[in-house]
Amino acid sequence: MPSTVPHTPLVDSFGRTVTNVRISVTDRCNFRCRYCMPEEGTQWLDRHEILSYEEIARLVRILAQHGVRKVRLTGGEPLMRKDLHQLVRLLVSIPGIEDCALTTNGFFLADQAAALKASGLHRVNVSLDSLDPETFMAMTRRDHYVEVWKGIEAAHAAGLRPIKINAVLVRGVNEHEIPRFARLARERGFIPRFIEFMPIGMGDGWSRDKVVAGREVVAAMEASTGVRLLPVERAGGQPADRFVFEDGIGEIGFINSVSEPFCGNCDRVRITSDGKFRTCLFSLQETDLRAMLRSGQSDDTIAAAIRAAVAQKEAGHLINDPAFVRPERTMSQIGG
Ligand code: SAM
Ligand code: SF4
Repeated sequence: MPSTVPHTPLVDSFGRTVTNVRISVTDRCNFRCRYCMPEEGTQWLDRHEILSYEEIARLVRILAQHGVRKVRLTGGEPLMRKDLHQLVRLLVSIPGIEDCALTTNGFFLADQAAALKASGLHRVNVSLDSLDPETFMAMTRRDHYVEVWKGIEAAHAAGLRPIKINAVLVRGVNEHEIPRFARLARERGFIPRFIEFMPIGMGDGWSRDKVVAGREVVAAMEASTGVRLLPVERAGGQPADRFVFEDGIGEIGFINSVSEPFCGNCDRVRITSDGKFRTCLFSLQETDLRAMLRSGQSDDTIAAAIRAAVAQKEAGHLINDPAFVRPERTMSQIGG
């Protein structure tokens, strides 16, 4: 039945407009990064609990009708999902979708980069916390450093640009590698993107003193290279999340969720692999879109549920507040 509801943007009660959705396509992963997942004992969802590609595409179509322009596929490890390029092909053909990106641990990228590019994937972020194989293994609990690099090189060869390298710095583990990441940016043209260690998922491990703040990374990079980093100004006086070296060689990025929360500017929502709609990584509430999809609800009814959830979007996360409550789901279950 054709939609009878006007396709107006999704605006929350603080005036922020949703333009960006992150979709977890699987909760499974072949790595066991210490800050993300326990080594053993994770209960995986059953196949039928996970949204099909058609169900995901229907939700993205509804979101696009209401102003969403960017989609990022994540997980778990998204490339563990069979033929992910077929989902990419569906999503990039949806009117309104301008950007389709992927966050991956890179392990399967060597095999899949060309098909993903051919299907219309625009960009890829590869998570690589260390440029030293031993530290990499200590952090991911897997000896796959070489495979991840093959994946990064394959993505580069396939023409996926830019390639961002996501790194979580944990004090005492890998923050001494900041100068190496500076060289990666300046000598190879990859864009390191430092995500502050967040209190989500694994109950153990996080404490404030282990967080390496973005501004500390900037200072260490300037000291090691002797070149200043200039912030790329953002609209609305928000803290910069991109910096370029003053001599024009190299760029780095930051997700300073702990030291400089950017919630006031947040344009994101998330869908978990089992079809739960979340308005924040740290939300304690979810809307069950899978139940609506599978009980024959119309696009208008689903759009109304999304709109109602967006209206309740939190002002911001409470990581820095004594009242902070850690969500029960891990990052791999929500989709990082
Ligand atoms: N498996 C893929 C990967 O690792 O890129 C996609 C999912 S992973 C959950 C997405 C991103 O979340 C990764 O860059 C990872 O480093 C980050 N992440 C996971 N747990 C985190 C935590 N506790 N704090 C900060 N970032 C985290
Ligand atoms: Fe897997 Fe990504 Fe979590 Fe590492 S960060 S365990 S690769 S989902």
